[in-house]
Amino acid sequence: MTFQVAVLAGDGIGQEVMPQALKILDKISHKFQYHFELTHALIGGAAFDQFGIHFPDETKNICNNAEAILFGSVGGPIKDSHLPKWKDCEKNSILALRKNCRLNINIRLAKIYPALSALCPLKEKLVQSGLDIIIFRELIGDIYFGEHKQWTENNLRYARDIADYNESQISSIAHFAFMLANHRKKRVISVDKANVLDTSKLWREVVTEVSKHYQEVTLEHMLVDNCAMQLFINPSQFDVILTSNLFGDILSDAAAALPGSLGLMPSASLGQSGIGLYEPSGGSAPDIAGLDIANPIAQILSVALMLRYSFKLETEAQAIENAVQKALHEGYRTKDIAINENASLEKVVGTSEMGDVIASFI
Ligand code: NAD
Repeated sequence: MTFQVAVLAGDGIGQEVMPQALKILDKISHKFQYHFELTHALIGGAAFDQFGIHFPDETKNICNNAEAILFGSVGGPIKDSHLPKWKDCEKNSILALRKNCRLNINIRLAKIYPALSALCPLKEKLVQSGLDIIIFRELIGDIYFGEHKQWTENNLRYARDIADYNESQISSIAHFAFMLANHRKKRVISVDKANVLDTSKLWREVVTEVSKHYQEVTLEHMLVDNCAMQLFINPSQFDVILTSNLFGDILSDAAAALPGSLGLMPSASLGQSGIGLYEPSGGSAPDIAGLDIANPIAQILSVALMLRYSFKLETEAQAIENAVQKALHEGYRTKDIAINENASLEKVVGTSEMGDVIASFI
């Protein structure tokens, strides 16, 4: 069986962690007898160097013809963001790509591995029962896409941002979250601000209606301010969190603090076009690019998500997740997750070696 994958390594550490993900895909291909047809394309600063723009048509066509997109990261050093190569690079690349592929659902994972629980900034007793949260964030509605306006009246400056939702945007992501919850702990916590906002009242109504189709899954509604607090005082109560664009943006970054490194967290974006986009949750990390110290695990786990959601290869996805778990359990660490570099139980390895170790455990 052949699967078409567009590979967009991008900038910075994307160039280093993507080859590790491809090592893993190659291993899966040999072990399970699948063929992944990879088409590489430029995006971000790398595309700018060649085409003078961040998301050239050539890349767009390659993405549109793929079944899934494996994405690294884009962007340059923050201090250089005024330079033409880096100005609006993230917006022109990743946001344009999401729009091009009509991706309306973002899934971010926040998992604490038992071997790395000491990296979690919370007290051990709060996470000792483990943590494995999936956050579903709606991507194409809400305040980011409504009218934005600034004006001055009677010498007073005003600003306005309008939030919009329609019921189809909400039900689309809600169905997906409930379906996934059905294969996990059968529990969805939907987060809104229904005590104040009309968009949240509609969110709550539609999510409640959708929940009726999934009798085995329990639904709880939580206000966003309470959810932000609960993530830090009782995080293990969460399994699937379902929320709107703005709240998801903030809550997924807050949850990102829990595992201890951005280098551990993959994400997936899905939509009606059928093309899935899989990428690490972090950026291009220019501060460590080229040093062979970036953690490739988020990029490698993005491959697992691609196999699970785009190609329905659950056994193969789990083979990757188990290999990552084994590498961590056996003490392999990149610098960002090394708790004590001198400890005899930890083997601090570079980006490429971590890729080799994980591949060897598949
Ligand atoms: P960043 O996520 O790149 O880095 C934040 C911190 O996390 C840095 O200290 C970095 O070294 C560390 N880090 C991130 N990934 C890591 C990994 N795999 N292993 C070890 N450490 C890792 O965020 P930033 O510094 O704010 O942004 C840098 C550039 O990335 C900017 O140009 C920004 O626009 C871009 N960016 C791109 C994306 C994307 O491509 N989706 C997302 C966020 C930021």
